[in-house]
Amino acid sequence: MKGLQDKVALVTGGSSGIGQAIAIRLGEEGASVAINYVGRPEGAVSTKEAIDHGVEICMKKLSDAGGRPILVAADVSDEQAVDQMFEHVLGEYGRLDILVNNAGIQIAEDSDELSAADFDKVLAVNLRGAFLCARGAVRAFLAAQQPGVIINVSSVHQVIPKPRFLGYSVSKGGMQNLTRSLALEFAARGIRVNGLGPGATVTPINRSWIDDPVKRRMVENHIPMRRAGGSEEMAAVAAFLASDEAAYITGQTLFVDGGLTLYPSFETTWSSE
Ligand code: NAP
Repeated sequence: MKGLQDKVALVTGGSSGIGQAIAIRLGEEGASVAINYVGRPEGAVSTKEAIDHGVEICMKKLSDAGGRPILVAADVSDEQAVDQMFEHVLGEYGRLDILVNNAGIQIAEDSDELSAADFDKVLAVNLRGAFLCARGAVRAFLAAQQPGVIINVSSVHQVIPKPRFLGYSVSKGGMQNLTRSLALEFAARGIRVNGLGPGATVTPINRSWIDDPVKRRMVENHIPMRRAGGSEEMAAVAAFLASDEAAYITGQTLFVDGGLTLYPSFETTWSSE
């Protein structure tokens, strides 16, 4: 894709699932990728190895392709850790072009039983973390007087309520205005900010149903395309949004969801007959 070669990207939560696939895809497109993780370094190492492998494949195809992945541990909800992460990335590469705010968690609980601590925890990682990292990236773009791209990995639950996952749906609803407000504030300075809204995707966050055929069928029956998405399908759209192919897109969230945001229960006529 146009404009990714030799760029520097930071992907939060790059040790697993969608973030891992995005990191690999950006690496395959010729970007150098800093892979952030928090608690499972072994996952991050496998991402790095996969990127190295992906870059090797690209090197065969493109004589001058080749990224230089690094690992950066940081809890994105921790302001000091995030500042140190940006120092590390800028110190290593001397620049930053792309931030992918992907790190995310969810906690299931009846909302009347949900503890304030658990509500705060989800907001801290999913929303405060995205803000802290976006702020770090914008500072880097402005200091270098260069364009930049931020991609916020949101969710269909940016617009679809999610009972029993209150912190999660509130965080993703907030992400919509994080995306739109930052996009408007910095559009004139060459910074694009967009959202990617995955539907149900086969990743470890969904371990409760992906390996159980009965539960999985129940989930997939709700999806108009009748299947869950793959991380690579999310990564392809993230790469597009990060690339110059999307040079005129800002403030938008692209839902990649097999039709889940299309009010699936209206697939058959029930309301007017
Ligand atoms: P996942 O496989 O569970 O991966 C989550 C990633 O976030 C891991 O790399 C994890 O790092 C990282 N992380 C968690 N807390 C963090 C923190 N405090 N600081 C830094 N990194 C942290 O989940 P996923 O399914 O790929 O989800 C990725 C994003 O897509 C999330 O924002 C999620 O809300 C969104 N999404 C997913 C789906 C889906 O169906 N899978 C649907 C819609 C939206 P460690 O491995 O080090 O713990």
